[in-house]
Order: sequence, then structure tokens, then C-alpha cells
Amino acid sequence: MSHLNKAALKRRFERQVLLLVTATLLVGAMVAFIVGEYSSARARAELELRSSQILALHKETIFGLLDKYRLMTVMVARRPDTADMFLDLSNAGGDEGDDNESRQGGAGVIRDLQDFSGLLAAMSGASRISLALPDGKIVAQSSLAPVSGIYLSEELRAAAIQGRLGRATIFSSDSPNTYAFAASVRSGGEIVGLVNIEVDLEELESAWALSDDLIFVTDDEGRFIVGNQLSSLLPDEYLRSWSNDGQYVRTGSPDQNVTYLARGENYPHIGWTLNVFLDDGPVRQARFNAMIMTVLVVLIAAILAFILLQRRMAILSRLHDERNNALMLERTVARRTAELRGSNERLRREFEERVQAESALKKAQSSLIQSAKLAAIGQMSTALAHEYNQPLAAIRSYADNARTLLSRNKHRDVDDNLKRITRMTERMAQLSGTLKTFARKPRTRSQPVAVAPLIEEAILLVGAMAKKQKVEITALPIDPKISVMAGQVRLSQVVVNLLSNAIDAVCGCERRRVFISAGREAEKIFICVEDTGPGVPPEDSDRIFDAFFTSKGVGSGLGLGLSIAYNIVHDFGGEIFVEQSKRGGAAFKISLPAHME
Ligand code: ADP
Repeated sequence: MSHLNKAALKRRFERQVLLLVTATLLVGAMVAFIVGEYSSARARAELELRSSQILALHKETIFGLLDKYRLMTVMVARRPDTADMFLDLSNAGGDEGDDNESRQGGAGVIRDLQDFSGLLAAMSGASRISLALPDGKIVAQSSLAPVSGIYLSEELRAAAIQGRLGRATIFSSDSPNTYAFAASVRSGGEIVGLVNIEVDLEELESAWALSDDLIFVTDDEGRFIVGNQLSSLLPDEYLRSWSNDGQYVRTGSPDQNVTYLARGENYPHIGWTLNVFLDDGPVRQARFNAMIMTVLVVLIAAILAFILLQRRMAILSRLHDERNNALMLERTVARRTAELRGSNERLRREFEERVQAESALKKAQSSLIQSAKLAAIGQMSTALAHEYNQPLAAIRSYADNARTLLSRNKHRDVDDNLKRITRMTERMAQLSGTLKTFARKPRTRSQPVAVAPLIEEAILLVGAMAKKQKVEITALPIDPKISVMAGQVRLSQVVVNLLSNAIDAVCGCERRRVFISAGREAEKIFICVEDTGPGVPPEDSDRIFDAFFTSKGVGSGLGLGLSIAYNIVHDFGGEIFVEQSKRGGAAFKISLPAHME
């Protein structure tokens, strides 16, 4: 999963979304169809149950109405007085009596019959009651309409003659249809007349008027007999096309906007079919609702699935980013580590180079110090040779004089010469003492060093040089008690160096004077060498203590004297610096820790 890049992830997401959309459409359509079918089947079953109940109810209504008149027809036909009236009529010669009397008698009977039928109709509520002769000719009826030449329908008459109850639907174009029963009136086994009772079907119409369903009755040929107001709106041809065999049938309404669940029930003995058309809106509604609900559910499920997919995609993309970041971080860390390793290596090399350079420098320094020392020794040797030669020459001349004086027996002068010789040797001894001091190895540990003798010795050491350059060295009065913590030889080396620098500085000047002084300042002892020379230019005052800094010409100076002095003084825990002297030249000042007694 993590090996996928972002574009691949996006493509995969798009594929999944496409799959989801397709699945949603397919599954949605399938499930919506199935659920819709199931719901409509259930609604249809309910509708069918309702139609059965309606059919049963209205069958009762129909038969409740017809049975009353069916029984009444039989009862009227079987009444003896009915037969008597027909007998009377035939005795009177029928309605076509020949003579006047019998014509009058017949008219009376007919009136009786009319009264009878009128009374019966009024009492029973029958639409019309007709009395007819066995040949079907109506002789009297409840309505006062003329009856001459009117016959019963052959269908009714034939049934009644055969001894059955005649039944027929009477279609009328100008008045509501009726249903008629007919029975024969017998007397002594002979048919003397016929009774015909017609039932007004308006009663059924009004009984069904309040129903919301289409209820109507058709005959075997599909002709409309009676129905409620709604059904009367149906066109005749539609009714005729509706033939049923007792099955549930769906049929479209004439205007195609409404479809009905139609059911019919046939009653063969009266030749009627009771039809109930129920608007199948509920079925369609149930299907529609179920489908909408299903579609909604599937849609919600799809949206949820989409959200899940999206979240999964976001998580994958975040993981991908995190992994990328981690990789980048790793790379950066690796690069930085490599850089660090490189720079460490460089530093290590630089360090090694520096260590090497330092040790080389140290070596060079020590060798330079060594050469400086050798140079100093050379200088000293020259000075000493000069110093020793002078007294030696003097001693020789004093000794020669002494021998001459001795030969002349001038003993007092000899003694004087010998004293001079002694003084000379003392001086030489002094010089050799100074040399011994230099020859001693410098001690690493500081020890108390008396300042006054040290300065005296230094002046002695540079004496020859000063004399040669005609420089006057003046030591200002020094407290003989002050002493410093230092190394005798090395401190002497420093002072000698400062004095010889001062001598060098004043060389080219008119006033050639050097002053050396020492004193106490708090817990420090200072030694100051001043001269009347040109002084140190301010721009050089920081650099003169650097090794190899010299203003002297090539071969004259090494530029190490002050550098060595600086190191020595700092070794003793002291300081050395230069300033302008009041006497005109430079003033080199050493400050050292005082030795406390
Ligand atoms: P070098 O004497 O061999 O030149 P130093 O380290 O002793 O080396 O002195 C460094 C420089 O300091 C000299 O070259 C000189 O320019 C300057 N200097 C030292 N002492 C004095 C002084 N007393 N007056 C003027 N300049 C001085």
C-alpha cells in the first residue's frame, strides 16, 4: 500500500468511486424493484381482500332486494283470489267479450285486477306489477298507463308457462332498468294467468352511491344494468370490453390516468355479474413509497460508503505524506550526519595540523630561543673578553711596573701596584661570578630574588656595551630590602635585555642616558628602564612583544628579546608593558609579585 504514489492512490480512489456508483445504480435499481414488487404485492393482496369483502357485501344487498320480490311473485301467483280473478275474467269473456254484458263484466274484473296490482305495488314498493293472460297479453298493471296490445316478454312468459319462475332484466332507454320476475297463476292444474313483478333497481344505485369504488352490474353480454354514480362515468364500450371470469384483473381507466384492480362475480341464475373496480392507487403508492425508501436507503448507504472511501483515501494519503516526510527527514539527517562527519574530519585534520604547527612553532621558538641564547652568550663573551682583557692588560702592566719598582727597591710603590692587581683580580672574579649565574640552569620554581643586586649585576653586564656606545646608565636609589618571586638568571636576562634595548635606542641620540629604577606598589614590585631615545611609536606598542618584531636592520636584531622577556615575566606571574617616559624616550615597566618577609 505504501509503495503507491499519490497519483496512483488518486486513480485507485477514482476507480473505487466509479465502482461504488455503478454498484449503487445496479443494486439500487434491483433492490428498489424487488422491494417495490414486494410492497405492491402486499398492497394488492390487501386490495383484493377488500374487493372480496365489498363483493360479498354488495351481493347481500342485491339478493336482499331481489329475494323479496322473487318470493312475492310466487306468493301472489299462488294466491287463490288471484286465480279467481283470472277465472272471473275468462268467464266474463276476457277482455275481448262479444256481448255487451260480458264486456261490462270483463271490464269490472280488469278494474279489480288493476286495483289489485296497484295495491300490491304500493304495498311492496315494486316498480310495476303486471297481470297477463297465459298468452302473454297484459290485462292489468299497477301503473295507470294503457296496456292494450302490450305483451310480456317471451322469455318471461315461456319460463312461467313451464312452471318456473321467470327472470329477466328489463332494459329501458328512457327510464332506469328494472328486473322482472314472472310466475304462472294456476287453477285446477290449468294456467289461467301470469304475474309479473318488476323491481326498481334505483334502490341498488342509491345503496352504492356513497362508495368510493366503482360498483356496477352487467349482464352476460356485458351490458350495463345498474351501478353507482362513479361507474356511470365509464363508457359503454369499456364496460363491454370488460369480460370477466371471476379472476382479478387489472385494467386501465379510459383516460389512462387511473388504473383499477377489477373483480367480478357472476351469478348465473339471475344472469348478472357484480363488478367492483378499486382504484389501485394504494398499490402504486405503496410501490412508489417502497422504491423511494429503498432508493434513499441505498443512496444513504452509498454516501456513507463514499465518505468511508474518502476517509480511507485521506488516511492513506496522510500515511503516504508521513512516510515521505519521514524519508525526507531520514535523508536530511543522513546528509547532515555526513556533513557533520565531514566537518568533524576537517576539524580533526585542522586540529592535527594546528597541533603539528604548534609543535613546529614551539620547536622553532625553542631553537630560536636557543639561538638567541647563543647570540647573548656571544655578546656576553665579547663583553667578557673585553672586560677580562682590560684588567689582564692592567695586571700585566702593574706586574711589570712592580718588578721594575722591586729592582729599584721602591717597595712602597710595589705594594701599591700589587693592591691594584688585587683589585683587578677581584673585578675579574666578580665578572666570573656573573657568568656563573648565567651558566646556572633556570629554575622552574620561583624563589625570592633581591632586586638591588640583580640590577647592579645587569648594569655590570651591559657596562662594556654602554661604555662603547657612550651611554650613561643611571641606577636610581633602590630599597635594598625589596625582593620579588622569580628566577634569578631569567629575571637578570630580562633586565639585561631591557637595558641593552635602551642602549640601542639612545645610540643615535645626542643625550644618551638610560635610567633604571625599582620600587614597591602595593603587593607588587616594579622595575622600570627608561631612556632618552625616540620612544616606541604608538602603532607599534602592541606588536613589540610579538616574536620576530624588530625595527632594527637585517643582522642587527632578531625581534626575540622582548618576546622572551614577555614570556619569562608572565611565567613569574607578572606583567610587562611599555609607555612614554617623562624623560623623552620609552619606559619599559615590569611588575612582579613581591616577596613578603
Ligand atoms: P631586537 O632588539 O632584536 O629588535 P626586541 O624584541 O628586543 O628585539 O625589540 C623589539 C623592538 O622593540 C625593537 O626592534 C625596537 O624597535 C623596539 N624597542 C625595544 N626597546 C626599545 C626602546 N627602549 N626604545 C625604542 N624602541 C624599543
